[in-house]
Amino acid sequence: MSKIVTMTAAIAIGAALSAATPAPADAQQRFVTIGTGGVTGVYYPAGGAICRLVNQGRREHGIRCSAESTGGSVFNLNAIRQGELDIGVVQSDWQFHAYHGSDRFQESGADKELRALFSLHPEPFTVVARPESGIRTFQDLKGKRVNVGNPGSGQRGTVEVVMRALGWTMSDFALASELPSREQAQALCDNRVDAILFTVGHPTGSIAEPVATCGAVLVSVTGPAIDKLVADHPYYFKATLPAGMYTTQKEDIHTFGVGATVVSSTRTPADAVYQVVKAVFANFDAFKGLHPAFAVLDRQTMVRDGLSAPLHEGAERYYREAGLLR
Ligand code: GLU
Repeated sequence: MSKIVTMTAAIAIGAALSAATPAPADAQQRFVTIGTGGVTGVYYPAGGAICRLVNQGRREHGIRCSAESTGGSVFNLNAIRQGELDIGVVQSDWQFHAYHGSDRFQESGADKELRALFSLHPEPFTVVARPESGIRTFQDLKGKRVNVGNPGSGQRGTVEVVMRALGWTMSDFALASELPSREQAQALCDNRVDAILFTVGHPTGSIAEPVATCGAVLVSVTGPAIDKLVADHPYYFKATLPAGMYTTQKEDIHTFGVGATVVSSTRTPADAVYQVVKAVFANFDAFKGLHPAFAVLDRQTMVRDGLSAPLHEGAERYYREAGLLR
C-alpha cells in the first residue's frame, strides 16, 4: 500500500516539476488530455505516468500532456467521440462495443473514428466483501447491499453483463449503490455496503486499503455462466489473483478479466499520438516502474492484444519505426 501511495505521489511531483519547465518561445504548445478513472484506481496513475514521460520531451515536441480523473471507460469513450478528450484509458470490452456500436453503444452507433494505441495491464473483475457478510461467491451477492459502480465506469457495464448472464436484475440486490470507485472502499469499511465490485489492475491501493483497514476479503467469480462469457467473447479471459497479492489473502482468487487499453480518435493528430506512444515505448523500463500493476507489461503484447479498433495512424508509424510491427 505505502509503495503504491509513494509511487503515485512521485508521479504527481514529476508532473508538477515538468509543468514548471518552460517550453522554448518558438515551440508551438499543444495540449493532449488523457481521460482516466477515479483517483484511487490504476487508470489515473497510468495516465499520469504516460503524461510524465510525454512532458519530459516537451522541449522537443511542444506537447503538454495532462491526465484527468473521470468516471471511467464508458465516460472516456463517449468523451472521445464528442471530441472532449484526445486520449482515454478504457476496458477492452468497452473499446470493442464502442467501435462496433454494440451493447451500451447500440443507441449511439459504431464509432468508426475510434482508434487504438496500445493495451496496458490486465483488469480482473474483482469482488471485495465484508468478512462477516457471508459472501464467498458471486452468487452470494443476491439479496446483499452491493456497490455496482457509477454509470460511466467500465465495471458498471461489466457488472450488468454478468447479471444478464445470470438472469439477475438490480432488484436482486437489497441495495444497488452507484458510488464512484474512489468512494467505495470507505463505504465498505463504514458498513454502508456488503460488497464492492471493481474491474481494476492489481495490486492497487483501492483494494489493499479495505483489506488492511476492515479485513475485507476477495471473492472468486466462477461458474458455467462465467465460462460461457469467456468462451463467447474475444475480450474476456480467465484471471487469477495469486494468494498473497493482498496481505490477508490466503488463497488464489479465480475470476475473469478484461484488458486496460489506451484509445484515441482519428481527430487527434497523428504527430501528437506518435509522440505519446513514443514517450511510453522509448522509455519503457521507466514506464513499467511507475506502477506495480505494470510489472507484467510486454511491448509486443501491448501492440497486439485487446485492441478491436484499428491502430491510430500515429501509433502505427511509431511501431513500424521501432520494429514492433512489420
Ligand atoms: N476499469 C475501470 C473503468 O473502466 C477503471 C479502473 C481504474 O480506475 O483503474 O471504469
